[in-house]
Amino acid sequence: MSKAEVISVRPAWQQELAQAIRSPIELGERLGLPESWVNAHSRARELFPLMVTRHFVGLMEKGNIADPLLRQVMPSNEEYLEQEDFVTDPLVEQDNTTPGLLHKYHSRVLVILRGGCAINCRYCFRRHFPYSEHHFGRQQRSELLAYIQADTNINEVILSGGDPLLATDTQLSQLLTELESLPQLKRIRIHSRLPVVLPERLTPALAKRLGDSRLQAILVLHANHPREIAAELQQALVAWAQAGVTLFNQSVLLRGVNDNAQVLAALSEELFAAKVLPYYLHQLDKVKGASHFAVTDAEALTIGEQLRALLPGFLVPRLVREVAGEPSKTPLELTLK
Ligand SMILES: *Cc1c(COP(=O)(O)O)cnc(C)c1O
Ligand code: SF4
Repeated sequence: MSKAEVISVRPAWQQELAQAIRSPIELGERLGLPESWVNAHSRARELFPLMVTRHFVGLMEKGNIADPLLRQVMPSNEEYLEQEDFVTDPLVEQDNTTPGLLHKYHSRVLVILRGGCAINCRYCFRRHFPYSEHHFGRQQRSELLAYIQADTNINEVILSGGDPLLATDTQLSQLLTELESLPQLKRIRIHSRLPVVLPERLTPALAKRLGDSRLQAILVLHANHPREIAAELQQALVAWAQAGVTLFNQSVLLRGVNDNAQVLAALSEELFAAKVLPYYLHQLDKVKGASHFAVTDAEALTIGEQLRALLPGFLVPRLVREVAGEPSKTPLELTLK
């Protein structure tokens, strides 16, 4: 077989991913950013590597160092700022006893299916997570099944990461088959940012597999800004909805990205046009290196109030924070009592 034939076997989204941009210089050149600015910030990639797909870069505004999409991926000097309450493991997850499995909430268990992502978001609460210890192979699969069977309260499995859609359609389908065999399960949920940076990942084959499953299938997207909902993504999402997958979105409230009710309202409108309902708007987890993205609780509550005045109730995301040890995500209002 020739090399070209071997390559053509890989799905389009994997080929796209192999071409992801990892160099700040290349990113700066593509966007026509001042070289001095790029050089001043690029060192911070030693803290967390730069990675972004060409598709996502294509949605950025040329020549704008303050572009809200660029801000999410470009290393920044501000990541060296030390802030006492911003730590490496804000959610106290790293000493979890069953590797690859987080069971914090009563009825659902979260599985870390894949370590990596197709984009490295600078604000990511898992930027210090020891992913290499979380390979999900055959053994982890049988441990997961045994774990679920030992707790009949579990009725939903959440595939998360990293990004679970980095697994192939075949791998996901095999795991789904095993989960379908457990009568206690009602739902399968996928948490993924991958469609936003690689819309081709929403393959019709996977939509059909999920839509036809005995388990009700949910995709929770992660988009933060209206410009992330590109035309290709919108079309693919509508097709997934038509295949029978329920679609939600979660966002993180980020200074300089979406800390503005007008922007968030526009995001909700774009999402709904793609058959996606806003689900959560997360107050930032206090992870070391991300303090420059923080929005104060007072500002967050004001933005939430303004958003309610702009949108119908079903387009307003729930403003929440994750509090270690709590039985669910906590509405921001309740964390201030
Ligand atoms: C956020 C999260 C969930 C999902 O919570 P929902 O409120 O059901 O969306 C489940 N498990 C863990 C560990 C989580 O962090
Ligand atoms: S896609 Fe999600 S898990 Fe991956 S880097 Fe971004 S925020 Fe973190």
